[in-house]
Amino acid sequence: MLRAQLLDWYQANQRDLPWRRNKDPYSVWVSEIMLQQTRVAVVLDRHRQFLQRFPTITALAAAPEQEVLALWSGLGYYRRARMLHKAAQVVDQNLGGSLPTRPEELRNLPGIGAYTAAAIASIAHNEPFAVVDGNVERVLCRLAGWDATSRSSPAALRRNIDVLASQLLDPRHPGDFNQAMMELGATVCLPRNPQCLVCPIAAHCATRGEHKTAPRAPMLTREIAYALSLRDRNSFRDILLEQRPATVSVMPSMWELPALRDASIPDQHLRMQVRHAIMQVNYSVRIRTVDEDEVPTLTVAAAGDRRWVPLDTVSALPLTGLARKVLTRAHLFALPSQPGRKPVESAQQHPTARL
Ligand code: SF4
Repeated sequence: MLRAQLLDWYQANQRDLPWRRNKDPYSVWVSEIMLQQTRVAVVLDRHRQFLQRFPTITALAAAPEQEVLALWSGLGYYRRARMLHKAAQVVDQNLGGSLPTRPEELRNLPGIGAYTAAAIASIAHNEPFAVVDGNVERVLCRLAGWDATSRSSPAALRRNIDVLASQLLDPRHPGDFNQAMMELGATVCLPRNPQCLVCPIAAHCATRGEHKTAPRAPMLTREIAYALSLRDRNSFRDILLEQRPATVSVMPSMWELPALRDASIPDQHLRMQVRHAIMQVNYSVRIRTVDEDEVPTLTVAAAGDRRWVPLDTVSALPLTGLARKVLTRAHLFALPSQPGRKPVESAQQHPTARL
């Protein structure tokens, strides 16, 4: 009964998402990786751009990593893009360019864990494996009446959730059933103010409302400051950017604005303030306009490569999410006119690019 009610509701109410239209395994794979830490509204456009530039696994495998990262810029958690790229190379070189269909085979690929493997196998190939993301976990806890006051340990609760997900899965329509559960969690069984009066499975629900969740770890706050340095030279408008070293653990090889030595910026030099959250940290970011001749005294010496980059090539660089946000707000960021333009070559073509 629950299965039929949920599937009927899904058929009538599902959002029109591009990766649902043809269930192509590669498209589903890219969508699942993007959606792991990013909202659907943001992924919609980025998924389309990504598949336009890399329409096949082979095309993705052949691309330079910097170009893949540039297209991922702003989505955050860049390890996902690196793993996706590596996995595409494995599939292209060792598996004839086709993704495996079974979860256990999918899990051998870089960046594909239990969740992603089950999602690809069930959605693209209708394999009977339950998918449990954060939304589904919430729906299942509420259905069963489990919450943070339950006596089971987090690990035991998670096992119970996985067992319940497998028991409820419709073996005849596993792909649609998994997507219906995810859709219900994303649009009806919301963390706050769940829409129980229109919920198709309310009759089976032991909670019918919000459930108690474990308190979240408090967010930390940090203040940081960056230089926004522009110059006009040889009919180019350039911006000063630097590349994080390839050896750092956080956002290696990504491009960002130079850091300022001093975060206290006089009002007349303050260009903007931006809030930016990464993991458990809320950053309060201050941006100072810095003239070219002030760069050596006001900025921290670059640990990696530092370049003057023509503004019209900036969007082809793998920018950190914060750099992209600042440049967008300053109206200095535009999507590339030529998809796939090589960022480093573009900078090298410029007469005075490298510092
Ligand atoms: S009845 Fe309410 S709490 Fe229960 S599954 Fe439906 S929306 Fe969620």
